[in-house]
Amino acid sequence: MYVKKENAENRICIIGAGIAGLTAGAFLTKLGYKVKIFEKENILGGRALSLNGNTLTAENYKKILSRFHVHIPFSTPSLETIFEKKMLRGYIIDLGFHVIGGGSISNVREVLSKLNQSIDIMESKIGFIENNGYNFPFLSTMDKIRILPEILRLLTSRESTMKKLDLIPMTETIKKYGKGKMRLILEIFSRAITTVNNLNQISTGETLRAQKNLLKGSSPVGYPKNGLQNISQTLASYIRQNGGEIHPKKTVKNIIIEENEAIGIIVENEEHYFKSIISNILVQNLFDIADQKHFPTDYVKKLRSLKGTGSLCAYYSLKKIDPQLIGKSFLFIERNTGIDGDDAVGMIDFITSSPKTGTAPSNHYLVQAYIICTPDEAKNKKTLETLKQILDKKLQQLIPDLELQTRWALYPATWHLDGVAKTIDNIKPEIKTPVDNLYIIGDCVKSPGIGINCAINSAKILCNLLQKTMKKPYLI
Ligand SMILES: Cc1cc2nc3c(=O)[nH]c(=O)nc-3n(C[C@H](O)[C@H](O)[C@H](O)COP(=O)(O)OP(=O)(O)OC[C@H]3O[C@@H](n4cnc5c(N)ncnc54)[C@H](O)[C@@H]3O)c2cc1C
Repeated sequence: MYVKKENAENRICIIGAGIAGLTAGAFLTKLGYKVKIFEKENILGGRALSLNGNTLTAENYKKILSRFHVHIPFSTPSLETIFEKKMLRGYIIDLGFHVIGGGSISNVREVLSKLNQSIDIMESKIGFIENNGYNFPFLSTMDKIRILPEILRLLTSRESTMKKLDLIPMTETIKKYGKGKMRLILEIFSRAITTVNNLNQISTGETLRAQKNLLKGSSPVGYPKNGLQNISQTLASYIRQNGGEIHPKKTVKNIIIEENEAIGIIVENEEHYFKSIISNILVQNLFDIADQKHFPTDYVKKLRSLKGTGSLCAYYSLKKIDPQLIGKSFLFIERNTGIDGDDAVGMIDFITSSPKTGTAPSNHYLVQAYIICTPDEAKNKKTLETLKQILDKKLQQLIPDLELQTRWALYPATWHLDGVAKTIDNIKPEIKTPVDNLYIIGDCVKSPGIGINCAINSAKILCNLLQKTMKKPYLI
């Protein structure tokens, strides 16, 4: 039965079961709110979802990818053959390359531990692919000692200084501090941290905040055992076990707004009333379900104009790899590519090649990779061809007989890797919207980190905000 307006007091609606929606749902359930999550797909996790190669069909695969702004411009052999020969049997693959920034101190682990939940996250330090081999880890202890005094001064800056640095592009910072390896570090990590190649658009403050983790000596990247799905499944079970509701295959068609207050939603022609409405959908799409007449014109224009980030990813299934590579992650930079930012940064990750991740059949080695590009470049076949060649070349530097060892390869290209790019001229909106009781969360909004970390942190910030604004009796 659906609650009418007057009984909506402690009821919260979340639109979308992405990582942010599920995190908020779990926290708010813990705090004693009555949470209902409506998700348009019949799978949970949003862009952080995993696909089961045992049951996946070619048609379903293409459909799911397209709903999340991903397509497969290339594959080896053809997609048809991969599915006809059931080559994905025994694999768990995500929409595209995923690692979680922060390793052992990632926000995923922190959030789950607050809910008394845990999942195994395999971690790696980061190496660097050189023209003639690789360096692992990229930063040796000697490097850290050498660059530490210079970078420490910046990293230990007060938040007020950091805020000023937020507006300084990396190009300027590199000109000032970037010599030798320090230059390489700033050029590569700032791009990897933001998923943007153009250093003019990357904020120095944002990069330095993220680099603090590296110098703390943590493993900078991690990947969950049994795939990314482990995170959303754990959060969803928590919500359901604690009285929250998740409704897959229920598309929210409209947010009901009256007198500048969000009061309910419409799903399948039925009205449902809530105290607060939290949208986890891409902010650019907010006005598809919320009438823009309720919002200031500038706000509508700004949200609609926000740009995401893009990339070409790759999944390689290999027959054999050098055991030294298993479990490790590597960054690379390719100079003078002609794409936006000219140099392109990417990553090749062997964490998933470890049998412990459970993402591939035994003696099959799954390697994931990505190279950064803009959303427009991710739709341009010619640019994608260049990027594919770079990915293959970089992997070949680590595995010289790559062609011989490849069982299959898939190259997913995405133009909404991050919902909104965290760049100097593309400022993310606040969680609180101009409409009362309507909030936005996810990787599109202002919150620390990018990607999964940003999404999770936005949910944490929202919960703190709601605790302050809602009546105490509903809090535990
Ligand atoms: C190929 C690829 C690679 C990536 N790699 C990384 C990585 O390595 N590291 C990293 O940190 N991040 C990575 N990301 C980004 C990361 O996946 C996202 O930042 C994160 O999953 C976003 O979560 P979210 O909760 O903000 O939104 P989403 O995952 O987009 O969730 C939104 C949910 O809302 C649902 N929805 C939309 N409209 C409606 C409606 N009207 N009614 C009901 N439900 C609706 C959607 O179906 C979806 O489930 C990658 C993304 C992609 C696509």
